[in-house]
Amino acid sequence: MEYGPAPESKEVAEQWLKKHKPHFKQYINGKWLAPKSKKYMDSNNPCTQKKLASVPLAGKADVNDAVKAADKALQEWVKLGGHGRARYLYAIARQIQKHSRLFAVLESMDNGKPIRETRDIDIPLVVRHFYHHAGWAQLQAEKLPDYKEIGVVGQIIPWNFPMLMLSWKIAPALAMGNTVVLKPAEFTSLTALLFAEICQQVGLPQGVVNIITGDGSTGSEIVSHPSIGKIAFTGSTEVGRIIRRATAATEKKLSLELGGKSPFIVFEDADLDSVVEGVVDAIWFNQGQVCCAGSRLLVQESIAEKLYRKIRHRMEKLRIGNALEKGVDIGAIVAPVQLKTIEDLVQKGVDEGADLWQPSWECPNDGCFYPPSLFTNVAPASIIAQEEIFGPVLVAMSFRTPAEAVKLANNTRYGLAASIWTENINLALDIAPKVKAGTVWINCTNMFDAASGFGGYRESGFGREGGIEGLYEYVKLKVEDEFTPAALPQAVEEKIGHPGNGLPAIDKTAKLYIGGKQKRPDGGYTRNVHDVKGHIIGQVGEGNRKDIRNAVEAAHAAGKWATTTAHNRAQVLYYLAENLELRASEFAQRLSQALGHSNRKSMQEVKASIERIYTYAAFADKYDSYVHATPFRNVTLAMKEPLGVMGIVCPDEAPLLGFVSTVLPAVAMGNTVVVVPSATAPLSATDLYQIIETSDVPGGVINIITGDKEGLTKVLANHDDVDGLWYFGSKEGSTLVQHAAAENMKRTWVNFGKSRDWFKPTHVNTEDFLRHATQIKNIWVPYGE
Ligand code: NAD
Repeated sequence: MEYGPAPESKEVAEQWLKKHKPHFKQYINGKWLAPKSKKYMDSNNPCTQKKLASVPLAGKADVNDAVKAADKALQEWVKLGGHGRARYLYAIARQIQKHSRLFAVLESMDNGKPIRETRDIDIPLVVRHFYHHAGWAQLQAEKLPDYKEIGVVGQIIPWNFPMLMLSWKIAPALAMGNTVVLKPAEFTSLTALLFAEICQQVGLPQGVVNIITGDGSTGSEIVSHPSIGKIAFTGSTEVGRIIRRATAATEKKLSLELGGKSPFIVFEDADLDSVVEGVVDAIWFNQGQVCCAGSRLLVQESIAEKLYRKIRHRMEKLRIGNALEKGVDIGAIVAPVQLKTIEDLVQKGVDEGADLWQPSWECPNDGCFYPPSLFTNVAPASIIAQEEIFGPVLVAMSFRTPAEAVKLANNTRYGLAASIWTENINLALDIAPKVKAGTVWINCTNMFDAASGFGGYRESGFGREGGIEGLYEYVKLKVEDEFTPAALPQAVEEKIGHPGNGLPAIDKTAKLYIGGKQKRPDGGYTRNVHDVKGHIIGQVGEGNRKDIRNAVEAAHAAGKWATTTAHNRAQVLYYLAENLELRASEFAQRLSQALGHSNRKSMQEVKASIERIYTYAAFADKYDSYVHATPFRNVTLAMKEPLGVMGIVCPDEAPLLGFVSTVLPAVAMGNTVVVVPSATAPLSATDLYQIIETSDVPGGVINIITGDKEGLTKVLANHDDVDGLWYFGSKEGSTLVQHAAAENMKRTWVNFGKSRDWFKPTHVNTEDFLRHATQIKNIWVPYGE
């Protein structure tokens, strides 16, 4: 039976485009302005290769005008309050809903994705996002009372879900009181410009949203603008890295949603007919140009051939063609350059010896079309198994055991999503926590909702969009305004001789602490530790690169700490506090000796440290995960997981309290840590060795390396097996950490030389520390009717 044509009308969209001929303008400060750059670029229809419109290619002056407008609008927008902002977001949602068909048609024309998808998935999700965040604006004061807006936010989005990515960016930013400069991708600017008209229609105050169009050069102007407080970027890992480095020396907050090579894992007991439909959704939805596409099919060996046969059968029936045809499954690739990338990568796969299968039918030859493709006989280390193809190309591999499936799944530098197919819920829930990915779908795939955070692990980026977890990307703690430039430790002239306070000149020589054992430093050097007057009061090991490497290895080997029950972790922490209390006066004496503080003041620090350990012990089993109310037949479990191996470079201000305030939240959440203690009083940390040992902390959970703070920081920052790094020290050190982190996209948290009062509970916001020590994995589990 032949399918008849069922074209969607493009009349209204064409009228709208005609209205903006010959050139679109950009939307700055509530007005439509021609670009000062006087440059334009074309937006084409990928299905026909015909030009749709000419849009501005904004330059530095345009970006500057947009940022200025956003800056000017900020104060009033904040003053409007949550309820006022909720009303605007609600109005935007309503207005998009009323024009939803125009948005859907325009999106299909500009991007090449089937109307079935833009009409039924993209635009409804956009609307849902604005409604949901209208709610968050309303609830901001109640739910996030300790936080405030960041300021002007620069947002840069890709072309694969133009309107959806816009809504993921703009809705939470506005809800939390920020103003926005957004740049859509160069191939797909049109729906963003239509959105700007909606902002005008609802009377959004001038300058709150500014839409400027342009390419990478425009994007980099946004990234480097000094008045922008946060950059939110979605796009390739390559550009993400550039942005991470470009913002390293600034205090700009950053969230990066990057690429992926997500596993689609099929166990032998899965319902194979559902699996086949899942595969269609995973890799042929949006022509496979989906960051979280299930592009690696991992199949249990016993059913592999049978599943491949079924998939080929289904592929043969897929329909490709003009995006506005209602019966089309696969539309066009966004642009010739992207098509070429896909063709080249597929050729590489063939050259590498993998078996390529494509349907017998031909693609239309007047647009950017590429057929659905299946590679079998693929080696796990091959290019097509490792590189993101970002096209309709599925790469299949097989496994024998669940453990092998997990290994294959995690054999990637990315960690955006995973999909697990089995009729055995025990198996699915055993595998889900083991896969390193920000989203895990069980017996489903590509499910999204505004109530659930989305974002990556590892080189897929950091930060979340959606849900309450996404809101934290657009706020900062109010108390941060109170942090002051830290007085960095001053070198003192060394005095030989007895300090004259009754203690021997050289008390003892502390070694390093690695894998639960005291270890001599690899280099064989020690460094003197002085009191404030310069007298030598002890010596510590001079750790080097090799010691850090050993410590990271030990921390990885202690990875079971992550699956130790939270109750057990709490017990260990309480025990630590108890043992510290037993030796409180000794620790106080040590602090007095090093810092010249009165015994009373030192005792206060020890007491505060014990109390803080109690706080984190208490939180170990109370920083709960939760279930998001997503509107589907499932529960969405927002599981808080540890980052993995963390480096922690402690503050100098309060050597003992700073140590426990930074190390303990990380450990309470199941991370294993490599700690560089304070430079001023490292003996307060090395004295903890015995306490750590007697408190049942498993070897390798806490490793301590003394030595040159900045040098050791550099090694940790460059280390590929360190998943997160906290640094409390100088501005330069903070920059170094952020810059080096771009390599493996480790999570960083730095203080830019600003110190907090570690004694003040308000300055050490407990949940803020716990949040930085965890990342959320959303697991979608089918549930109920
Ligand atoms: P891209 O990185 O080339 O471009 C993304 C955006 O960044 C565009 O707006 C572009 O103009 C801009 N840009 C380019 N160079 C820049 C620079 N130096 N400074 C600032 N901005 C710059 O990515 P793309 O090809 O548009 O999109 C595809 C990529 O996006 C894929 O890798 C995909 O996985 C990823 N993606 C990720 C998610 C997610 O949520 N994780 C969602 C969609 C797409």
